[in-house]
Amino acid sequence: MLDQTLPEKEALLEIENLHVEFRTSDGVANVLNGVSYRVHTGETLAVLGESGSGKSVTAQTIMGILDMPPAVITEGSIRFRGEELLTASANRRMEIRGDGVAMIFQDALSALNPVFTVGFQIEEQLRVRRGMSRKEARVRAIELLDLVRIPAAKSRIKDYPHQFSGGMRQRAMIAMSLALDPELLIADEPTTALDVTVQVQIMELLAEIQAERHMGLILITHDLAVVAEVADRIAVMYAGRIVEQADVNELFRAPGHPYTEALMNSIPRLDLKGQTLKTITGLPPSLLNIPPGCPFHPRCERAEDRCRTERPIQHNIGFGRASACHFAEEVVSRA
Ligand code: SF4
Repeated sequence: MLDQTLPEKEALLEIENLHVEFRTSDGVANVLNGVSYRVHTGETLAVLGESGSGKSVTAQTIMGILDMPPAVITEGSIRFRGEELLTASANRRMEIRGDGVAMIFQDALSALNPVFTVGFQIEEQLRVRRGMSRKEARVRAIELLDLVRIPAAKSRIKDYPHQFSGGMRQRAMIAMSLALDPELLIADEPTTALDVTVQVQIMELLAEIQAERHMGLILITHDLAVVAEVADRIAVMYAGRIVEQADVNELFRAPGHPYTEALMNSIPRLDLKGQTLKTITGLPPSLLNIPPGCPFHPRCERAEDRCRTERPIQHNIGFGRASACHFAEEVVSRA
């Protein structure tokens, strides 16, 4: 089912009913089980969930960089500006990658090539994809490093990735991802490996660049504080499904799925000092063996008999939001 949380308008990216499985020696892992969402120009969609919920696999499928095999896309559609990506030729996918959609990875040190200078890695794209001369590419690369606030960009452009701090490497990754002026940027946990002060700086930088360029931004994170600061809408994932989608203010006002509610209750709060912090009991299910009914039922405080047998479908619950819980309306009204 497509995300119906927004009125119809042209979407930059539309993912519909995406199913991906990993065929491993231990069995078939159902990694994505009908993921659907849309992103519009100038919008920030935060995709939130625990590790293994399918956030990054969805992003890799959009980018066409999923390892296949073991991954197999068994069903679904991904359209960028109305063009189907899953059946596009390899050349067309490559054209869209960088120009249309670009991605910032979690770990900049692994994503950057250690044997080439930072400048070379930015300039190479500009020469190959834009036909720029070495000199033109160098000028543009310095502009990009300036844009992401690398100090003394003109001289630091000759540095290798290991000569940059963690925060500077992530800034260099952002510069690389912007080199071809993408319309949509996917940032996969872009601040995970950084200390808290640098995390804030990087998120502010991303938000600024996104607003200036009016790009679509998919921000993959498990950090609700980051989401609250920068997102317009949130899609919450659990066990390879979107369990809730909502405008950020609506979701924080009253979550419409017990998993979202539990995530929010597990954030430390100064006004609850001295009280035991609530946690979500148990672990996310093995994707080799997702429980029947609602995949969240073994951990859900609200679970009833119906939840153990009947899989909830994502449905509209008002105020432009959708939830995949049998009792979503009650959850919202009690919040
Ligand atoms: Fe909990 Fe049942 Fe809702 Fe699933 S459907 S989230 S188990 S109340």
